[in-house]
Amino acid sequence: MAINKVGVVGAGQMGNGIAHVFALAGYDVMMTDISADALAAAVALIDKNITRQVSKGVVSEEDKAAAMARISTTQTLTDLGPCDLIIEAATERETVKQAIFDELLPHITPTTILASNTSSISITRLASRTDRPEKFIGFHFMNPVPVMQLVELIRGIATDDETYQQCQEVVEKLGKTSATSEDFPAFIVNRILMPMINEAVYALYEGVGNVSSIDTSMKLGANHPMGPLELADFIGLDTCLAIMNVLHEGLADTKYRPCPLLTKYVEAGWLGRKTKRGFYDYRGDKPVPTR
Ligand code: NAD
Repeated sequence: MAINKVGVVGAGQMGNGIAHVFALAGYDVMMTDISADALAAAVALIDKNITRQVSKGVVSEEDKAAAMARISTTQTLTDLGPCDLIIEAATERETVKQAIFDELLPHITPTTILASNTSSISITRLASRTDRPEKFIGFHFMNPVPVMQLVELIRGIATDDETYQQCQEVVEKLGKTSATSEDFPAFIVNRILMPMINEAVYALYEGVGNVSSIDTSMKLGANHPMGPLELADFIGLDTCLAIMNVLHEGLADTKYRPCPLLTKYVEAGWLGRKTKRGFYDYRGDKPVPTR
């Protein structure tokens, strides 16, 4: 089964990047979101980001025009029915993802591969509630999608070899590299990365350092390109909290308990860059630490 037409559910930070790389690689992409504003913003952002690639000489004007022409949008989820591969990249909440797959199932073809870009939710559990656990896989892109080289492929307990190999080929066609993770909470990258970010929030909460000193320490002391708090804002604090909760509950170990300060920021709606406030305030010309 050739994969030509790809559906992307959710047009947020990740969904727009996923649509961007698939369209540039020659796939027809249909993107859906419950929010018309999110869809319009995603298309505008893809245009802006590919234009930047054109100005750097990595993409030609013709390839940009062809990629933009391959992207269509719809607010009707079931329009994705004819797609060969559907990647769900909606909000990191299991009930949201479950409802999306439930609604899609009666409308997709028998060979459609279902994938989730979830950062942490069990692929095996999401798959078990569909009619095709063998054709269900974790397709986990990193943020920002057009820049980051890795795609984690997560095999649920039932994912068959054919689905896994087809997805490996898709990753190669995107010009990216896959790493395979078994289906345990938060997989590989976030199993290691999120506890570090959570520890940085604990260091802030306990007054070990302020936002600037923590980020400067890790940038200059550990050679990280971004400080952990800056990175948390970039990922989205709601997503960080959701992943910590999955680690905490899934591995039943108190070492993964989310920092209360992270919870407080999320309760305030200070979710990082996407809401213009998190550990930094992004409303001015340059980011200002909020603590
Ligand atoms: P986001 O908040 O930027 O976007 C989520 C989008 O999903 C929103 O536009 C929202 O309107 C839409 N949505 C919500 N319910 C929907 C529904 N029922 N149908 C269609 N669209 C719906 O979130 P994001 O950062 O793009 O994350 C999306 C997924 O990608 C999550 O599972 C997250 O864990 C995962 N992820 C995020 C990152 C990251 O760094 N942010 C990295 C890798 C994976």
